[in-house]
Amino acid sequence: MTAPSAPSQKTSSEPAALTHPGFARVVFSLPLNEAFTYAIPESLTGQVQPGMRVRAPFGPRNLTGYVVGLTDRCETDFEIKTLVDLPDGLPVLSQELLSLTRWVAEYYHAGWGEVIKAALPGGLDEDHHEIYFLTDKGESALQDRALRQNALQILLAIHNKASLNKKQIQKTLGPQFRAHALAQLRQEGYLEARVKIKKRSVAYTLEKTVRLTLDKRSPDELDRLLKRSPRQRQLFDLLVGRELPVSEVASHMPNHSAPLRELKKKGLAETFNVKRDRGGEGVENEPGWNPEAPRAFTDPQQKIFQSLADSLDASEFKTFLLHGITGSGKTEVYMHSIQRTLDAGKTAIMLVPEISLTPQTVNRFQRRFGSNVAILHSGLTNVERYLEWKKIREERVAIVVGARSAVFAPFKNLGIIIIDEEHDTSYKQDTTPRYHARETAIARAKACGAIVVLGSATPSFESMERARIGEYRYLTLDERIGERLLPLIRIVDMRKERDEAKNYSIFSIPLKQAIHERLERKEQTFLFLNRRGTANYVVCRKCGFVFDCQRCSVSLTFHGQSQSLLCHYCDFRAPMPQGCAECGGEVIRFSGFGTQKLEEDTRALFPQARIQRMDRDTTRSRSTFETIYKEMRAGQIDILIGTQMITKGHHFPRVTLVGVVYADLSLHVPDFRAGERTFQLLTQVAGRAGRGEVPGTVIIQAHNPDHYLFEYVPGHDYNRFFDKEQLLRERLHYPPFTRLTAVEIESEEEAAGESVVRHLKAFLSGQMEQAPGVELLGPSRAALYRINNRFRWHLILRSKETAPMQALLARCLENQQLKKFATGKVKITVDVDPMNLL
Ligand code: ADP
Ligand code: ZN
Repeated sequence: MTAPSAPSQKTSSEPAALTHPGFARVVFSLPLNEAFTYAIPESLTGQVQPGMRVRAPFGPRNLTGYVVGLTDRCETDFEIKTLVDLPDGLPVLSQELLSLTRWVAEYYHAGWGEVIKAALPGGLDEDHHEIYFLTDKGESALQDRALRQNALQILLAIHNKASLNKKQIQKTLGPQFRAHALAQLRQEGYLEARVKIKKRSVAYTLEKTVRLTLDKRSPDELDRLLKRSPRQRQLFDLLVGRELPVSEVASHMPNHSAPLRELKKKGLAETFNVKRDRGGEGVENEPGWNPEAPRAFTDPQQKIFQSLADSLDASEFKTFLLHGITGSGKTEVYMHSIQRTLDAGKTAIMLVPEISLTPQTVNRFQRRFGSNVAILHSGLTNVERYLEWKKIREERVAIVVGARSAVFAPFKNLGIIIIDEEHDTSYKQDTTPRYHARETAIARAKACGAIVVLGSATPSFESMERARIGEYRYLTLDERIGERLLPLIRIVDMRKERDEAKNYSIFSIPLKQAIHERLERKEQTFLFLNRRGTANYVVCRKCGFVFDCQRCSVSLTFHGQSQSLLCHYCDFRAPMPQGCAECGGEVIRFSGFGTQKLEEDTRALFPQARIQRMDRDTTRSRSTFETIYKEMRAGQIDILIGTQMITKGHHFPRVTLVGVVYADLSLHVPDFRAGERTFQLLTQVAGRAGRGEVPGTVIIQAHNPDHYLFEYVPGHDYNRFFDKEQLLRERLHYPPFTRLTAVEIESEEEAAGESVVRHLKAFLSGQMEQAPGVELLGPSRAALYRINNRFRWHLILRSKETAPMQALLARCLENQQLKKFATGKVKITVDVDPMNLL
């Protein structure tokens, strides 16, 4: 519905001055779940509103916080501090986003302020930083060498440069840097910190401006001062009665700097900085731009669109799961639905996985909607991101296409949130706040009567289950547009290659041959290597058997130190086996294989081919990414080697062969979702073959092709795979039949960490009676036990119902004794609905 916005609720005729609340409730981007009360100073009376940023004293310094509410009463015995400043004229968060961020904070056990920070464009709050310098105590400690080596290094680094900020210290010390050592030095008075305001903020630019001084001079005096310098005179006349930005002076008068300098010297002119808001100008399409015409729907598309449109028109919250194979026309349905939303005067959020936020995807939306689209991805600078965010906030666009955090786009009047490739793990943030964009989108849509469309060729098990019980409306598209054929998939048994063909190379004979054919026909090949698995596992050389935990059905992880196998879910341990449990054959450790090695081997085997590698190492910068992309389109590359990166969102019509090396690598990642992920990945990779006229071929090499997953991959039969795999999930009480929460403990010191782990376990065990239906697994060492010199453990809570588990966690996090442990050296993190349990 497009009712004009409701008349303002405020009754401005009331005696407002008397009713201005005197206190503000403020949260900070800190792992705290409380809001702090501050007095509003007289100078800011009536200006402070919920959703605004403030500067407020917190501990020894001023921090940026967010106002979450106003109040007239303040019941506390503490001394009330007063707000210092209000950096913006307007709230940065609407009431709607305040509620949403609060929901996220509660559900994911993060600080409200931390969530707010994640919801705002990066860089907005970074207009200040702390710089450290040595106190006298610090200087003398440095001379006497009276501290630990690590502390001395920090002092020395600062001493050498007089002052440094934390990032610079970190950079100087490299891996030796310890944040808590820095904090301790400060606590003990060896260092002090001063807050420095950054000169450049994302929100505004400083524009150098010139004007005449107010000193009145007589015309005679002026004549005398300017007589011999016509250019100074010219500039003087230009400035009479106005101020001009220096950049504008330049357009009136080339070579203005010398005369300007002289005028300033003579005291006739002065320069000063003016704050200018960035990105105020309107957005316009390039001249000559015409929107691409929408395509007429096929019958199946039309049916699906109608269901979406019905809910859209009724402004009725509903979640749809659109299960459609690649190339079945999902994106076309999204675009029509967005158009329908715009026609109703509403706005749209389109989420795609970060990795597929390629120029191709973006172009597709821009061709259709022009400058009505804002783009949010991680390749933007802080300033660019802020500008896009501002366009949204000021309603200069009605659509945003972005990665995870775009779910917080500051739209009013939201009509639709679309999540493409909804199963993608990048929708879950893996640092605090560990929110999932899907859950967040649903919470947001529910609150504002919008619809959510989850699209995927291989939906997550969570979404499939919710569709089954009727929470989501399930829709399918099971035919490709234009009768383009699905690629032909062939599984090659690498054991047979080795034993029967005596082929020990990474390339099977069929794959080698297929690549040769492509080279001859001038078609392109993708070689895909999955590098997700980094944990070691133990495999039989002969039959491919992999050791699993009997209880948890995840691969056991090999730990070198103890020469043992470990289940990092339940802490089951076994000594390193002597031989295979199935056939008695020799067992070996396996820890993956890199793209670099694959590239070397490929070059050796196909010396005539033009080969490129695309992974995180080679495409750090966006430009390399785009170069490779262009070369691919232009047919200047024969074989492209890559990781997950090459699997998403690219459309290269000349790729007719996809080779998957070590397809089963990801099956042995010690994670109960290993099967689901592998199927999703293989489907996605296969989707890259034959997007043009020639049907594609996919060759999948597996060392253990007996796994049931490989039965369903060639037929693109996700449903049957799902039916089978979910029985296992149900039997083992895994999601989607239960909910999990992981509590992670991280410590630089092994013993300190272990002690916290023990206390945590004791605390939780003691609480189990008050938490009916909640199960406790572990604690155990994480599969990746040591990362960046930190030891890691986790403990898993499992429950059918979330409420008792959430309550238990809240009690646990409130526990004072645990709080005391969890400072500095040992960190406790909660991960609700974890996607990654390594
Ligand atoms: P998906 O998002 O499911 O992978 P797309 O929407 O990208 O599928 O559609 C695949 C291809 O088919 C695209 O090239 C698209 O332009 C084209 N297409 C989609 N719908 C139609 C239609 N109704 N008529 C003609 N071509 C279409
Ligand atoms: Zn186990």
